[in-house]
Amino acid sequence: MAKAYNIKRNNRKDFIKRIKILSNGCHEFQSWQDRDGYRFFRYQGKDWRAHQLAVLFDGRNPTGKCVCHSCDNVWCVNPQHLWIGTNQDNRTDSVRKKEQEVDGLILL
Ligand SMILES: [Zn+2]
Repeated sequence: MAKAYNIKRNNRKDFIKRIKILSNGCHEFQSWQDRDGYRFFRYQGKDWRAHQLAVLFDGRNPTGKCVCHSCDNVWCVNPQHLWIGTNQDNRTDSVRKKEQEVDGLILL
């Protein structure tokens, strides 16, 4: 019987298994999402926004920074479509794209 305490820990392989590759090169992450549309993955006891974790797995450090999408697909976790910017960069980018400002992107 599967009990909560028997659920195995997610690892990087589990993350990759949830990726759906689209013809435009985006790697859409299949998971639950919050009201802002971001998809999540539990890793090392923490719920990560999938795209932030993708950057971490790519060897970059998203701590204290915003992870922005060059493709505007918030489900995308393709490291090549993700760039790390400051909150200000993200805001400028958002304004440029006429999107609503997204808060809560900064990792503490
Ligand atoms: Zn993409």
